[in-house]
Amino acid sequence: LVRLRARLSRSQNALGKGLLTLLSREHLDEDTWEEIEDTLLTADVGVAPTQELVERLRERVRVLGTRTPDELRTLLREELLNLLGTDFDRVVKTESGLETPGIVMVVGVNGTGKTTTTGKLARVLVADGRSVVLGAADTFRAAAADQLQTWGERVGARTVRGPEGGDPASIAFDTVKEGIAEGADVVLIDTAGRLHTKTGLMDELGKVKRVVEKHAPLDEVLLVLDATTGQNGLVQARVFAEVVDITGIVLTKLDGTAKGGIVIAVQRELGVPVKLVGLGEGADDLAPFEPEAFVDALIG
Ligand code: GDP
Repeated sequence: LVRLRARLSRSQNALGKGLLTLLSREHLDEDTWEEIEDTLLTADVGVAPTQELVERLRERVRVLGTRTPDELRTLLREELLNLLGTDFDRVVKTESGLETPGIVMVVGVNGTGKTTTTGKLARVLVADGRSVVLGAADTFRAAAADQLQTWGERVGARTVRGPEGGDPASIAFDTVKEGIAEGADVVLIDTAGRLHTKTGLMDELGKVKRVVEKHAPLDEVLLVLDATTGQNGLVQARVFAEVVDITGIVLTKLDGTAKGGIVIAVQRELGVPVKLVGLGEGADDLAPFEPEAFVDALIG
């Protein structure tokens, strides 16, 4: 956890430092508030959350009068946490009952880190003593099934796969059947994320979902988003949310951006909690998203 926090703060704390410096100015005039707004927007916090935060900060700074650095830090911390929401359930649900395995479907645009995230999540679950079956239903990207299988072999999870270009729904079906037959604890299904037509995506993911739900309740649909794509990621998120009911967000490549504000923006946009964050390409670089640790890393 300490290592993860260190990694987060290295890339993230530009935002918090910038805000604290601005807030510490003796005279908080209009220009300064505008600079604060710009800082938040530049960090991908998004327009509506930025306005809300600035409004609340202005009011609290006004009530506070003179400000010590500690008071400012506390105030900023509270308001950022407030924006992230404290009442979300951020645990990835992997247990639907005793009869059938917990079923998690992983969706997102190709290249966002879907397959890697599926592999890392399998590793976390296996390390926790759970048996996992992986489903390589991303039949669009040629190397995806090999990549997932390699992860599976590494972490000790079997991978169900089909022919290249095969029907994703039938692979998902086989994976769930296999998971039930083996008495597996969790089934993780990697899906394809080609985004050129919304109806195509909707047909495909909808079919995968229906086929899975014929056999067992679907516990989670995790949307994987690349944090470095900023507002573009939000556009993608919207499309996916229209196609399938997202239950959690995984923000990957948070190690590669100083724009941590995307966490706030995407949650606000979808009304769905960020549950996991990707902090690197390695097997151990997936962490539960903890708002307090995140905000602490942000403001240093
Ligand atoms: P997919 O097409 O969505 O399945 O994407 P992949 O899982 O193949 O990932 C695309 C690239 O992003 C790979 O090179 C991964 O190693 C890399 N990647 C995935 N997650 C992270 C992360 O959290 N941080 C960094 N730096 N790279 C990541």
